[in-house]
Amino acid sequence: MKVRTRFAPSPTGHVHIGNMRAAIYNWLFARHHGGEFLLRVEDTDRERSTTEAIQTLLEAMAWLKLDVDEEPLYQSTRMEVHLEAAEQLLAKGLAYKEDKGGTGQGECVIFRMPGTDVSFEDGIKGTLSKAADNMQDFVIVRSNGTPVFHLANVLDDIEQGVTHVIRGDDHIENTYRHIALYRALGADVPNFAHLPMLVNAQGKPYSKRDGDAFVGDFREKGFLGDALFNYLALLGWSPGDDREVMTREEMVEAFTLERCQSSAAQVDLKKLTWMNGEYMLKLPDEEFEAIAFGELDRAGIDAEPEYAEKVFTLIRERAKTVTDIVPLAGYFFTDEIVYDEKAVKKKLKKDGVADTLHKAKAIFETLEVFNEASTDEALHDFVETSGLGFGAVMAPVRIAVSGVQSGPDLFPVLAVLGRERVLKRIDRTLELFFA
Ligand code: GLU
Repeated sequence: MKVRTRFAPSPTGHVHIGNMRAAIYNWLFARHHGGEFLLRVEDTDRERSTTEAIQTLLEAMAWLKLDVDEEPLYQSTRMEVHLEAAEQLLAKGLAYKEDKGGTGQGECVIFRMPGTDVSFEDGIKGTLSKAADNMQDFVIVRSNGTPVFHLANVLDDIEQGVTHVIRGDDHIENTYRHIALYRALGADVPNFAHLPMLVNAQGKPYSKRDGDAFVGDFREKGFLGDALFNYLALLGWSPGDDREVMTREEMVEAFTLERCQSSAAQVDLKKLTWMNGEYMLKLPDEEFEAIAFGELDRAGIDAEPEYAEKVFTLIRERAKTVTDIVPLAGYFFTDEIVYDEKAVKKKLKKDGVADTLHKAKAIFETLEVFNEASTDEALHDFVETSGLGFGAVMAPVRIAVSGVQSGPDLFPVLAVLGRERVLKRIDRTLELFFA
């Protein structure tokens, strides 16, 4: 039997990371077994499932590289089939009609639970069962003639030939009903596996109140799709050893439901940021450059490619996210640098600094060649002969050329900026703060 899994979201315009994790597990499981991964868009709520909401969903999946093996099935196109199945259940006496609540608004179709206990082997949680007494008949077609989630979900899983349903454990109660429906419809019951919830530090369901919760937020904040994929894959699953940063192939190879944890998984955005930093470091140079040029472009920075590439080499180790790039690199591309107030107060507006900057400028002017080694040597000589501390020389020079206190090593920064920019910026600093 070929494994077929699916992701069956109800598009709302936002894709919660918990839902996306379910998609990832379905994808990993299918790929591990050489099976197929499908998408079903449960778009019966026409108000929320707008074209834009569906577009957001498809973009999120593409960003995470969750490729599907068949055209998506849109649930809204299947209403007739759903209603037809309800008719058949009625005809067989497995469902009945009732004016629920006696509102006179018409009759619903109600599925008759079989009156027996239902139990199943959950791929993650083990044996789950529910006593007949605790299960009631339920509506499958509303009085307005529209099919209810349970009926549509089960019929579409049958239509798509889904063999394994991997979804959040908030659906466990539904699963008992669904199993009864499969049987009534004469269909094979698929394998079920229910994933534990994502929770916050207090153990409550993780929501946007706890931090970013939607896939789109992470993309906007400069996370890489591959890093978010890896992070979510490990949120409730482990490869069985201490590997954390893993390639897709490694995850596919190692993924099993047995290694999914059955208790809730705590979201830790610090860990995601760390992992993203690891992915940023691993990006091939061309990819990092493409991303960085895109960021500069979005920030309205017109960068000369050769110069920009040197800048990227300097800052890339410090960029934990894509959105770190412009703040780290921005000052390289304008002589009108913005000075960090704290840095100015603490390190620049101090006795002797104007003199130090004048002297540094004179030294830079007279250097035969201006590069990393020559500026390094010259400033060190200056420190020694002047009797000033190392920091008393380097900090003002750094702030004068960059506006900030921290950054990559100073000498490569000076070398990349080049003599002309460095002198101009020292002049401007002297004018702005010491004139
Ligand atoms: N549309 C349902 C949801 O998003 C589908 C659940 C499922 O069967 O995977 O919760």
